[in-house]
Amino acid sequence: MENEIIDLRSDTLTLPTPAMKNAMNNAVLGDDVYREDPTVNKLEEKVAAMFGMEASLFCPTGTMTNQLAIKVHTKPGDEVICDQLSHIYLYEGGGIAMNAFSSVRPLAGDYGKLNAALVKDAVNNPDDIHQPITKLVVLENTTNKGGGSIYNFDEIKKIKKICTDYGLILHLDGARLFNALTETSETPKDYGEVFDSISICLSKGLGCPVGSVLIGSSEFIKQARRSRKAMGGGWRQAGGLAAAGIYALDNHFPLLKEDHLRAKKVGNLLLANTDIIRLYPVETNIVIGELPEDIDAVTFVVIMKEKNILCSPFGKNLVRFVTHLDFTNSHLEILESRLKDLKIK
Ligand SMILES: *Cc1c(COP(=O)(O)O)cnc(C)c1O
Repeated sequence: MENEIIDLRSDTLTLPTPAMKNAMNNAVLGDDVYREDPTVNKLEEKVAAMFGMEASLFCPTGTMTNQLAIKVHTKPGDEVICDQLSHIYLYEGGGIAMNAFSSVRPLAGDYGKLNAALVKDAVNNPDDIHQPITKLVVLENTTNKGGGSIYNFDEIKKIKKICTDYGLILHLDGARLFNALTETSETPKDYGEVFDSISICLSKGLGCPVGSVLIGSSEFIKQARRSRKAMGGGWRQAGGLAAAGIYALDNHFPLLKEDHLRAKKVGNLLLANTDIIRLYPVETNIVIGELPEDIDAVTFVVIMKEKNILCSPFGKNLVRFVTHLDFTNSHLEILESRLKDLKIK
């Protein structure tokens, strides 16, 4: 207990549970490039049906599913509208430029969320040859840099209306969509109706070791599958990983609400016991805390680490804590005892 590390750096850090490993061990396998892995096929059919969409593609990462979507939806020189805090813009290694040769219009939204008015104002005039052709709008739900913030679905529908009016494609980076679904009344099918394509991650809150799924029309997925192959992402007996995904959707999705409760408690403990002066609203499993001007995030992270508490610097005066499947109520108790009197000032 004394030395146990409380690791709240990310929800990607989870290890597969014994039951998940069992499902992985028992998976029936085949060569997925030949489309002969029955477990990959089963996952892809399950996810497509869940969202009421035609097809899906199992990939190793959410970066790959987002990048494939952007590449298939755009031509070189086209413009992608997204929030300035979005993962596709900040954290995918410049992939939009590298893979799709697209221009990006990052907008200043609210905790990483766009709204219809912002999107409308950013659409270029297609007849003005000075301007890139606006082609794609990408939303992120929940937002990572916005502290796990959830879109209001009515706003998404208003953004969809702008896209329809201007002939734009709408993609969702739903790395943490299941966290949003946990807190709202919408279903995956509601999202499937509004978006042209959706990326979901199985390796975040759902606790898989690897895996993301890209969802869309059959024609779109066919093109994404070709681009994935060209990127070197055609994989073979991937069914063990797909089995983890199926297991996680069936068994771990319902547990996310507990992560969210624990995140609220972590937020309260941080406010009460540390130098953090303000929290972003804690809506799901991400807690972003703001430090005073004279305490930088890296210093704070080092002090936490001395107490065997791991968190991430998330900007000059911002730190991020993320709850996940491997952070239990007993870890919360350990955290509480270690946080006593941890103020620097
Ligand atoms: C984690 C994440 C992704 C995908 O990341 P990978 O590490 O490539 O799987 C995409 N979008 C958001 C918002 C994320 O948090």
